[in-house]
Amino acid sequence: MTATVLDGRALAATLRAEIAAEVASLAYRPGLTVILVGDHPASQVYVRSKDRAAVAAGIVATTVPLPADTSEATLLATVAALNADPDVDGILVQLPLPPHISARAVIEAIDPAKDVDGFHPTNVGRLHDGQDTLVPCTPQGCMRLLRAAGIELAGRRAIVLGRSAIVGKPMAALLTAADAMVTLAHSRTQNLAGECRRAEIVIAAVGRPELVTADWIAPGATVIDVGINRAADGRLVGDVDFAAVAEVAGAITPVPGGVGPMTIACLLANTVKAARARRG
Ligand code: NAP
Repeated sequence: MTATVLDGRALAATLRAEIAAEVASLAYRPGLTVILVGDHPASQVYVRSKDRAAVAAGIVATTVPLPADTSEATLLATVAALNADPDVDGILVQLPLPPHISARAVIEAIDPAKDVDGFHPTNVGRLHDGQDTLVPCTPQGCMRLLRAAGIELAGRRAIVLGRSAIVGKPMAALLTAADAMVTLAHSRTQNLAGECRRAEIVIAAVGRPELVTADWIAPGATVIDVGINRAADGRLVGDVDFAAVAEVAGAITPVPGGVGPMTIACLLANTVKAARARRG
């Protein structure tokens, strides 16, 4: 293997320790409330991990479990109550929501100052405008990985594979703000492999197991793999064929142990940022 492996687990542990030290220095304990609607198994696992990490950092973590048949009105009323609660600094509504609830309506109901997922249109607008704001956790984690590895971004050709509101679009905005030249690719992109080969930085967030193969990657490129997928044989894999791409790339994140742990650490960072901004 020629590539340097960017260890998200280690970087996330360092970030969590820094956050815990920061929280210990505050005169109050920041509060994070996660709303979980229904019993989606993966969501339950994610919420438990967020809760554990928050508690370990000294954050007051609360989960509000609601049944799958909760009405949109009840969920909106729950969000409104949390918006008004002075002890709550961060509100996160775990996605996906049941189909009878509009995720858009719920996200827009969250106070932007408490929107630790960074999905509210106010925070999305601020991000695209280059203003300081609450930045979505997964792309924020990718940026922290790139920065910690000393990867130069200014003037570099970057490609983001996937244009979701959660990962791809904010990732492209962050890279643009860092002066990279950014291509945002998606399922309608022609010659995706060729576009990818021209890039010095590749961020893969498509949700297709091992789609990105070694012949898509320019020698020495940096590859950040956001994907979390089950391969046909049951293995947990990213969007990148790790073993083959690691022979070509200059740096690469593994799955698991790359972007995933950074996402949760960035949620804690956002909670502390929101608390400081609100409480002074
Ligand atoms: P998503 O909402 O399903 O979006 C997928 C994007 O990829 C879409 O923009 C889609 O294009 C594009 N796409 C799909 N197939 C493609 C193909 N064959 N070629 C080019 N583009 C293609 O997914 P997401 O929520 O962004 O998540 C992406 C992956 O990241 C998933 O594996 C997810 O599990 C993982 N994820 C990981 C973390 C973490 O913490 N590590 C966090 C969030 C997500 P169109 O827009 O044209 O449909």
